[in-house]
Amino acid sequence: MGRLDGKVAAVTGGASGIGEATVRRFVAEGASVAFCDRDGERGQRVAAELEASGAKVAFTQADVGTEAACLAFVNGAAQKFGRIDILVNNAGIRKYEKIDEASAASWNEILNVNLMSYAFCAKAAVPLMRRNKGGAIVNVASVRSVIAGGGNLQYDTTKAAIAGLTRALAADHSAEGIRVNAVGPGPIFTPFHQRRIEAAGETVEQYNAQAAQGTMLKRPGRPEEVAAAILFLASDDASYVTGALLFVDGGMTAL
Ligand code: NAD
Repeated sequence: MGRLDGKVAAVTGGASGIGEATVRRFVAEGASVAFCDRDGERGQRVAAELEASGAKVAFTQADVGTEAACLAFVNGAAQKFGRIDILVNNAGIRKYEKIDEASAASWNEILNVNLMSYAFCAKAAVPLMRRNKGGAIVNVASVRSVIAGGGNLQYDTTKAAIAGLTRALAADHSAEGIRVNAVGPGPIFTPFHQRRIEAAGETVEQYNAQAAQGTMLKRPGRPEEVAAAILFLASDDASYVTGALLFVDGGMTAL
């Protein structure tokens, strides 16, 4: 028996890192999973591998930076599998601009992907969940929802806003049986960090040393460790949890 037997989930940014680990864990727990990503090649590879092992998955290549794309993805997922029980808003990008460098276009890009896609996917999911008399939305926020990273101005702004969006949606839809929560990952080693390390000319050892210094558990986390927390919040085990921001950060925010 899986913890998500019979459930249908939609996951954004599911081709890599935390999103991919979530898709894989949800499938292992018995869910049918629709996922999207702007990286079509990687998404198709993940979907083909899972399908070959008998999983019910559907991949869509989509950039969630517009309302239309978000509505099409979530409604398409419901059409494919007949319902939506779980939405995981995970797609995210980073920028490294200071306030005097960041243009309106740059702000709009990161706001559209990191914040508005969470709102627009929820806009599509809520009426579908209402039809089923309940559902669970899990938003991937960050430790940057509550602490500043230094050099991540726009990213930190969007991640703080996700915490607010999570609480507001939870308050608005709790009476309809829809729970809305967020996870706040700390340093999780994913392709996201691989790219940053390469761009900065750093090494994985330097990254690990930084994570060791900044966390109580003295190591970076794994995407699967975040997926486990997302699973908890998405599952009926979290039936009395809503409006929460659960840190999965090796103790970073408590240090
Ligand atoms: P990742 O880069 O490995 O995965 C993100 C995925 O999202 C990629 O497959 C990417 O193609 C996809 N994506 C990005 N923009 C998209 C768009 N516009 N439309 C569709 N897909 C898009 O990164 P990750 O580390 O797994 O990050 C996932 C989430 O976790 C992000 O929201 C990130 O902010 C958050 N997070 C990560 C960490 C960490 O340390 N890795 C820490 C805190 C929060």
